[in-house]
Amino acid sequence: MTDFTMTTDADGVATITWDVKQKSMNVMSTEAFALVSTLVDQALADPAVKGIILTSGKKDFAGGMDLNVIAQMKLGGAQAVFDGVMQIHVMLRKIERAGMDLKTLKGGKPVVAALPGTALGIGLELPLACHRIIAADNPKAKIGLPEIMVGIFPGAGGTTRLVRKLGAMAAAPFLLEGKLSSPKEAKAAGLIDEVVVPEDLLKRAKEWVLAATPAELVKPWDDKGYKMPGGAPYHPAGFMTFVGASAMINAKTQGVYPAAKALLAAVYEGALVPFDVALRIEARQFTSVLMNPSSSAMIRSLFINKEALDKGANRPAVPDQSVKKLGVIGAGMMGAGIAYVAANAGIEVVLIDNSQEAADRGRAHSEGILDKGIKRGKVTVEKKAEVLGRIHATTDYAALAGVDLIVEAVFEDPKIKAEVTAKVEAVVGPDCIYATNTSTLPITGLAAASKRPEQFIGIHFFSPVDKMNLVEIIRGKATGDRAVAKALDFVRQIRKTPIVVNDARFFYANRCIIPYINEGIRMVAEGVEPALVENAAKLVGMPLGPLQLVDETSIDLGVRIAKATKAAMGADYPDEAVDHVLFWMADQGRLGRKANAGFYAHDAKGERLGLWEGLELKYPHDKLQPSLSDVQHRLLFAQVLEAVRALEEGVLTDIREGDVGAILGWGFAPWSGGPFSWLDMIGAAKAVEICRGLTAQFGPRFHAPALLRDMAEKGQSFYGRFGGAKAAA
Ligand code: NAD
Repeated sequence: MTDFTMTTDADGVATITWDVKQKSMNVMSTEAFALVSTLVDQALADPAVKGIILTSGKKDFAGGMDLNVIAQMKLGGAQAVFDGVMQIHVMLRKIERAGMDLKTLKGGKPVVAALPGTALGIGLELPLACHRIIAADNPKAKIGLPEIMVGIFPGAGGTTRLVRKLGAMAAAPFLLEGKLSSPKEAKAAGLIDEVVVPEDLLKRAKEWVLAATPAELVKPWDDKGYKMPGGAPYHPAGFMTFVGASAMINAKTQGVYPAAKALLAAVYEGALVPFDVALRIEARQFTSVLMNPSSSAMIRSLFINKEALDKGANRPAVPDQSVKKLGVIGAGMMGAGIAYVAANAGIEVVLIDNSQEAADRGRAHSEGILDKGIKRGKVTVEKKAEVLGRIHATTDYAALAGVDLIVEAVFEDPKIKAEVTAKVEAVVGPDCIYATNTSTLPITGLAAASKRPEQFIGIHFFSPVDKMNLVEIIRGKATGDRAVAKALDFVRQIRKTPIVVNDARFFYANRCIIPYINEGIRMVAEGVEPALVENAAKLVGMPLGPLQLVDETSIDLGVRIAKATKAAMGADYPDEAVDHVLFWMADQGRLGRKANAGFYAHDAKGERLGLWEGLELKYPHDKLQPSLSDVQHRLLFAQVLEAVRALEEGVLTDIREGDVGAILGWGFAPWSGGPFSWLDMIGAAKAVEICRGLTAQFGPRFHAPALLRDMAEKGQSFYGRFGGAKAAA
C-alpha cells in the first residue's frame, strides 16, 4: 500500500503525498485511511518534524471515498459501520488537535492541506480537519461535498465541521445540494482559507507551517466562548434558519430521501451539543442512512452502474469509432439540440433542414444556450465563437460528404424519414453510420429504406437535449456491432449516459412512461381527484405527476401516439378509457403547456397555476377516494411491470440499464435506485401479491409477468438473479 508517502525536509516540514497508483484520481480506501493515520502519528511523534503538509501527487487532490468501499461497509452491519466511522473521526480529530495540550491548547504541530485541484467528499473532509486549507488557483478544480447526490451525506466530520465553520444557513447549499465551487468561489464562501498561483502551492504551504502561531491551530469550536455563526437552534436567528430548512427540505424531497432528513437531524442535534458529541451524532445518522436500502440502491445505480455504462459496459469489441464529423438532418427542437451538444464536445456538425431559414434557426438555438452561459459566467465569448464555428447550417445535402455519423431528426413520418435516408445515402461515404432519433417508429422498419441496414441504428435523445443525460441506443434486427460501437462512442464524446436496447414498440423509456401517464389519466376518468393523483406521484419521489408530465410533453402528442398504437394493436388495444379523457382535452384546445392550458391552468405568461377546475365538471370526483398507497401502487406498478416485461422480452438485456435509464430518462423515483432496485427492495413475492390485488380491482394490465412470478417462487431478486451485469434474458 503506497497510496500515501511521507518525506521530511531539512527544515523539519513533513510532506504527506496522496497518490493512488493505477488511478488517475485519488480515492480513499479503508487501508489508505489507516496508512495516512500511521504517517500522521509518526510525524506528530517525531521531534524533528515541525509541521505537516498534506498534498497530492496528482493534478487533483481527491475525488472522494471509493464508493465501492462504502457499498461494502454495510455488509458488516450497523455496529461495524458506526465503529468504522468513529475510527475516522478519531483520526481526523487527531490531526485537528495535532498533539496540543487540551487544557492550554498549546504545543500542537501545524497541519496544512495543499490542494492542487479538485477536492471532493472525503477529499475535502480531510482538509477540513487540518488547520488551514490552501488551494491552487486551478479554474478546472471543483471543491465540495457531493455525497447527497448519491443518497448519503458527508459522514467523515464534513457535516459537523462545515456547519460550525460557516453556520447552518451558509453551509446548506454545500451539504444539502452538494454544490461544488471553484477554488476562488470556495475561498469567497469560507470553505477554504487561501488561493495561490499553482507554482507557489507547496512553497506557500511550507511558509505557513513554519510561521503558524499556536492560536492559529485552534479551531473556533475548540476555543472558549465559541458561538455558531448565524446562531444555534435556540438562538432567535438560528431558530428561523432551522424552521425554514426543515420546510425547504421537505418541499424538495417530499420526505422520500432518507439522507436529506438524516443530514438535517445531524446538523440540528449536533448544533445543540459539544463538538465531539456532535461527531457521534453525525456517525449515528450516517450509519442509519448507509443501512437504509435506498442509499445502496442509489450508490449502485447513480454511481457504480452509471459509471460502468458511461465507460461502455455493453460496447461491442470494435476499434474506436469516435465521431469526427456529424450530419444532423432536421434542425427542429431535437436536431438543433443534438447539433449543440455535439459541437460543444468539439465535433464538426453539418446541420440540414428544408429551408436555410429553418437551418439557421436551428443553429441560433446553440447561440441562445451559449449566450445564457455567458450571462452566468460559465461560457467565454471565445468558446461561443468556437462552438458556433463548428455548426455549418445549410440545405445542401452535398455538404454531408465526409461525415462519419448521421443523426436524422425530421418529422415523425416514416415516408419522410425514408426519403431522407435515400437522399443522405446518395452523398455520404460507404462507412458512414446512419442513426434516427425517432421516438416511436420501429428501427427495423425504418432500416428498410437503407441500402446498408447493418449501419442503421436508433439514437434516441430526450428533450431538452442539452439537459437530459440519457441516450437510448436502439439495435434494429439488422444493426451491426460497428453501428452500436459508433453510437456508444458518440454518446461518450458528448458526455451522456447510454443504454442499449432492442427494437420494440416505444423501445424502453417511452414504453414505461406511457403507462404511467395513462394510469394517471385513467384515474381522472374514474373520479379520483387529480390532486390526489399528482401528489401521490410526488410523494413517492416522481419529479412530475402524470398529469403535469403529459402537459409538458403535450396532449396532442399523446393523442397521436394513442391513435397510432390503436391502429397497430387493433382489438387488443387496452386504453379506451384513457383516450376518452385525452381526446376530450384535445377537443377543448387544452393541449398542455405549449397552449398555456392542459390538466393544469396557466397564466398568460405560461406560469403553471394549479389543476384546471373545468376538469371536475366533466369528470366529477367520487365521494369515496382511494388511499394514497393504492394510488401510488397503481402509478408505480404501471411503470415497473412494463420494465419487467421489457426485460422478459429481451428489449432490455441488462437490468443496470433498466435502472439507470429509468432514473435519467424519466426521473423514476431516484431514491429507489430504479424499477428493478425498487422491486428488489419490496421483494418479488410481495410484488406479486400486490399485482394480484391490483389485477382483481383494476384489470389484467397489472398481471404479474411470468418472470416476476418465477422469481417470487424461487425467492430471487433481480440483482441476485441477473448479477447486475448483462442478463441472459
Ligand atoms: P420538429 O418538428 O421540431 O423538427 C423537425 C424538423 O425537421 C423541422 O425543422 C423540419 O423543417 C425538418 N424537416 C422535415 N422534413 C425534412 C426533410 N425532408 N429534410 C430536412 N429537414 C426536414 O420535431 P422534433 O420534436 O425535433 O422531432 C424530430 C424527431 O425527433 C422526430 O422523429 C421525433 O419523434 C423525435 N423525438 C422527439 C422528441 C421530442 O420530445 N420532441 C424526443 C425524442 C425524439
